[in-house]
Parts: sequence; structure tokens; C-alpha cells
Amino acid sequence: MNHLVVLGAGTGGTVVVNRLLRHIDTMSWNVTIIDESDKHFYQPGFLFIPFGMYEPKDIVKSKRQFLPREVRFIQHGIEEIKPTVNQVLLKDGSVLHYDVLVIATGVKIAPEMVPGLVDSGWYEEAFDFYTFEGALQLSQALRNWKGGQLVVHIAEMPIKCPIAPLEFSFLADWYFTKRGKRDDVEIILVTPLPGVFTKARANAALQKLLDEKRIRVVTDFYTERVDGTERKLYDYSGNSVSYDILVTVPPNTGDTLIARSGLGDEMNYVPTDKHTLQSKNYENIFVIGDATDLPISKAGSVAHFQAELLAENIARYINKKPLEPSYDGHANCFIESGHGKAVLIDFNYEIEPSEGHFPLPYIGPLSLLRETRLNHYAKLASRHLYWNVILRGLPIPFVTARMNPRGRKI
Ligand SMILES: Cc1cc2nc3c(=O)[nH]c(=O)nc-3n(C[C@H](O)[C@H](O)[C@H](O)COP(=O)(O)OP(=O)(O)OC[C@H]3O[C@@H](n4cnc5c(N)ncnc54)[C@H](O)[C@@H]3O)c2cc1C
Repeated sequence: MNHLVVLGAGTGGTVVVNRLLRHIDTMSWNVTIIDESDKHFYQPGFLFIPFGMYEPKDIVKSKRQFLPREVRFIQHGIEEIKPTVNQVLLKDGSVLHYDVLVIATGVKIAPEMVPGLVDSGWYEEAFDFYTFEGALQLSQALRNWKGGQLVVHIAEMPIKCPIAPLEFSFLADWYFTKRGKRDDVEIILVTPLPGVFTKARANAALQKLLDEKRIRVVTDFYTERVDGTERKLYDYSGNSVSYDILVTVPPNTGDTLIARSGLGDEMNYVPTDKHTLQSKNYENIFVIGDATDLPISKAGSVAHFQAELLAENIARYINKKPLEPSYDGHANCFIESGHGKAVLIDFNYEIEPSEGHFPLPYIGPLSLLRETRLNHYAKLASRHLYWNVILRGLPIPFVTARMNPRGRKI
């Protein structure tokens, strides 16, 4: 029997095992997936928890229910990968052999990497919304808040879902407007980037929305430290931004398991071929989702599109056929802009977000790079699509793993 082992049963790991079973013979291949937790979080829902739009029960389910019966699930922490001897070491000391390995261990936030951030006021005046716990604590804090300076902060790039801090700012505008408190709250978005998005057209469209909603943006802010007693952020040039509530996105790093295994860069991201998703260093290791070092957004949509193409490439590898350079960097994100509207962007390595329609060229029904009510309803529907279709590896009508550029104003 041959062994295919998948590390991480989040978005990428779950979709890839579901897709793999259509491509490989389970009589000769044993498929195992390992994760330290049985809780599968719908992470885009972390954004809605602080504003009371979702409750915890909406965004957490058991991982097991999304894994096919033929796949063995091991719930355990992973200590190390030994790529020269094709072994995975678990935290309890047990050892698994693999013939093919898929790394899908995602990224985690590392607030301790920002000097001062967790020293004083952490989860009192300073919060994250990239964890379940952080989102819950923040919902409590916003509910009882009388107003002041709300600073939404990106410590450094890259982060997963890079538009989530913008969405948080937009939703804060809507939330405090609805409560009649908007004039008591100043919303400031602080970013190390020169703009709010890395691509010109999307940057212009999003900056216009931020201006309309009176959200101030501080760019090129390279955070040196946080002083929780003074409630101030400092950058390396000595500039500071004061806050009453800080909503920060701390640095996002790959799991320390990657460093222990000697497989990552300085942020514990695994060097990965951008088109085949094969590890750059070991031919029987493949990497998917946030764990890669690829020059594309770390997003669930990316992990999903990659999983579809990766399952086919693993089947080619097993059957000793050449790999296809099939992944084109396709990413797709809804940007919730508040007041019942959202913007949709769709792009890849070569083509930046631009106007057009999705998923059907010229028809839609969704509009690209435009704020519409239908986009907002589609964003809300995505949660059901995620649990019932995407995670199970089922096709979404008209949505392709490779980007369809037809009809775009490129
Ligand atoms: C606030 C927020 C909003 C977001 N919004 C969107 C959105 O609107 N659209 C979008 O496309 N994406 C969004 N994302 C991003 C999306 O959730 C992630 O990009 C996606 O989940 C990545 O999938 P993954 O499989 O790479 O990692 P994950 O889904 O994070 O899975 C990694 C798994 O590996 C396991 N693991 C890690 N290390 C170990 C270890 N040592 N031992 C055992 N198990 C381990 C973890 O337990 C986890 O289950 C958002 C994320 C956040 C935080």
C-alpha cells in the first residue's frame, strides 16, 4: 500500500482530499489527513462576529463531517516533517511514513512579534479579529464602547485575506451609523502599504469608498512597537497614531512546524512552484493555501482553486506523468462595504482586478469592482456554499479554478 498524507484539515486540506478521491485508486493508496483540532472555522465569519451579524454557531463545525469515509483522520499536533526519509513526526512521538505529502497547515497570527502589543491592554483595548477568541472579545468591547478613536491596523504584509481590515473599517462605519454613534467615532486604517490595495484599479475604487465613508487612511506605516499604556502605535520614523480601541492584524506566519522541519523561509512559508504547487525542494511534497510563499493573496478562494488543480497534478505524479503548470494565481474575494453592499474582485498572477461580470462573462449576475447589493447577498450566501459545496469538493456552476478573463475591461 502507498501512503498519501495531508497535513492540515482546514480549507485547502479538506477540499484536496475530497477531490483526490476522484483521481486516485484507494485500493492501492491510503489517504490520511492530520490536524490538531476537530473544529473547522469558517474564517470569513470572524469579520461578522464583532458586529453581531453572525453567532459562533454559524461559523464552527466538526472537521470530521467534511472528510470522506475512505480518508483516515488523525487528530493530533504535528511536530516535524523529515523530508529526507519521508516521515511525519506527531507530537505524541508517533511516526508516519508517506510516499506523497501535502502541506496545508495555513498561517497563524503572531502578536508577540510586535514589541509591546501583548504587554499591556491586550484583549482590553487592543484586539485581533483573525481568531475566534479575538472576534468574540471584540464584539463585547464594541457593544459597550462609548466612542473615540478606532484604529484598524495591519502590522506587516503579507496577511491572509488582505482586504479583511478594509472590510472591518467599512462595517465599523455601518455599525456605528446604525447605532447613531458615527459622529462619536473616528475610524482610521493604518497600513504599511503605499495604498489600501496593491493593484492600481482596485486601490482607486476602494480609496473612493473609504473617502465617502469618512475613514482616514495612514499609509507607509512600518510598525516598530505598540505602547499599550499610552495607547499608541509607533513606526520606525518616530510617527505615532493614538487609539482608544486598536483592532490589529498581527504578522501572519506559517506554523513553527515548518521551521522545525527546515522547510520554510523566514516567515515559515514553504517555497512552492507557482504553477504546479510542487515544493521547490522535494518532488514528492506539494503545498497548498496560506502555507505557500506564492505571490498571490492568502485566501480561501485561492486554497479552493488550488485544491482542484492540485488533486489532478498529484494524480499525474502518482501515475508518473509530467505535472501541468495549471494554477494561474486565480483569486476571488467579496469585499463587504457596509450598509448592505459589497464589491467583488477576481484576478490572477497576470490580470489585476478590473470591471466586468462574474461568473458569466457579460452577464453576471455579479458585478466586478462595483459596489452592489447583489454582491452583498452573494457574500452572505458564500457561507452556505462553503459548508455544503466547496469543502465537499463539489463544483460551483460556472466558477472555474482558472480565471476566465472574458469580458473584463483589462
Ligand atoms: C478574518 C478573516 C476573513 C477572511 N475572509 C476571507 C474571504 O472573505 N474570502 C477568502 O477567500 N478568504 C478569507 N479568509 C482567508 C481564509 O480563511 C484562509 O485563506 C483559508 O482558510 C486558508 O486555507 P488553508 O487550508 O491554507 O489554511 P487553514 O484553513 O487555516 O487550515 C490550516 C489547518 O492546519 C492545521 N494546523 C496547522 N499547524 C498544525 C500543526 N502543527 N499540527 C496540526 N495541525 C496543524 C490548523 O489546525 C488548520 O486546521 C479570511 C480569513 C480571516 C482570518
